[in-house]
This record gives sequence, structure tokens and C-alpha cells, in this order.
Amino acid sequence: MSRTSGRARKGRSWPPGDVRFIGSFPVDLPAGRLPEIAVVGRSNVGKSSAINTLLGRKSAARVSGTPGRTRAVNLFEVDSWLSVADLPGYGFARVSQTLRDSWAPMASRYIARRDTLRLVVVLVDSRRDAQPLDLALLDQLGAAARPALVVATKVDKIKPARRVRTLAALGAGLGLAGPPIGFSALKKIGVPQVWKAICRACER
Ligand code: GDP
Repeated sequence: MSRTSGRARKGRSWPPGDVRFIGSFPVDLPAGRLPEIAVVGRSNVGKSSAINTLLGRKSAARVSGTPGRTRAVNLFEVDSWLSVADLPGYGFARVSQTLRDSWAPMASRYIARRDTLRLVVVLVDSRRDAQPLDLALLDQLGAAARPALVVATKVDKIKPARRVRTLAALGAGLGLAGPPIGFSALKKIGVPQVWKAICRACER
């Protein structure tokens, strides 16, 4: 996306100029004051890498060699117009049952109550079929009338000739009207599409 693209409002171009880490909140978040997007997905889906790419930073979110550790919501403010909530990854088998059980109520509360929330970016692994936990999350978002943007990560791992078919099948498996956006933090694929959707959701 061009920095001066006609429709992008001043200060909303990618990469963002100013990214501020607000804090890490295990239970209650501070009241929101900006339109917010949340980024969610199964542990190890590439969430930290995707957030770092979207924020144009090397290490705003921690890329972890140990999936499933983070249990807090990390909040970032972008160029004073956007708030980004990095929700803990879900469904990682090696973390304890107690930790796994703590995700659903926390996320459900967030999804139901966060009044500044405009868009939930749901990350799914482009190499895997639709996962039951992802389907459950999409159901929950639909029931709460929360807009979701499904983004399929690590698409660089799929041969270019197979990408369209793979993403179409994944979209169908997830019950979406179309394919998810193919994304790669490694190869910077899909960044303008996701950024544009975020800008559009937060313009209202
Ligand atoms: P998180 O646990 O969901 O936050 O995922 P991370 O961002 O920590 O990434 C998990 C693993 O996937 C790491 O080994 C990353 O290097 C790898 N990864 C993340 N994004 C990509 C990508 O776009 N392409 C490829 N090939 N690997 C990726």
C-alpha cells in the first residue's frame, strides 16, 4: 500500500510511524479510548509475527519458541488512532488444563464487553484444515455480532500454484463466504489487504 494512497487518511498508512506498548493485562483492561482491533488465533499460528509485521516492528509482540505461555492481553496504540489487543493464543495442548480453561471466559468477556472493539482478526494456519476451536470462535463472534477478518498465516509454506485452491477450501471449511486472506510475515504477503481491512473497520 502506498504511503500516500488516496483513500488512506493521514496517519493511517502502513507501516505505522508510532507504535506504543500500553501494557500487559492479565485480567482487566484499561478503558478503551481508540477504535480497537483484537488479534486472536491458536498458539503457534504466527500471531506475534503477524502483529510485528502489521505494526512494522521487529519485536513489538514476542515471537515465542515456547507456545502457549502468554496469558495476558497486550495492548498497543498505533499513531494515536488505533488500539491493537494481542489476545493470548488458545488451544495449545501442552499448557495445563487450568490455563486452557482460563482462555475461554477471559476471551468471551472481552468479546462481549469491549465497547471499542471494531474488528477481530482471526488467524488460522493456511496449511491446516478448519480447526474445531477456530470454528467455535467464529461462531461466538457471529453470535455476538462482532465483525471477523479471517487471515491464513504462513502462506509462504504453500506452493504459489496451490494457494488459491487451498485458501478456498479453508474458507469453505470455516463456513466463510469466501477465502481467508493469505498472509505471510516471512514474505510480507497479504499485508496491504489486512491493513486496509483494519483501516476500513476503524473508520466508522
Ligand atoms: P504465535 O505463537 O502464534 O505468536 O506464533 P509466532 O509468531 O511466535 O510464530 C510461531 C512459529 O511460526 C515461529 O517459529 C515463527 O518463526 C513461525 N512463523 C511465523 N510466521 C511465519 C510465516 O509467515 N512464515 C513461516 N514460514 N513461518 C512463520
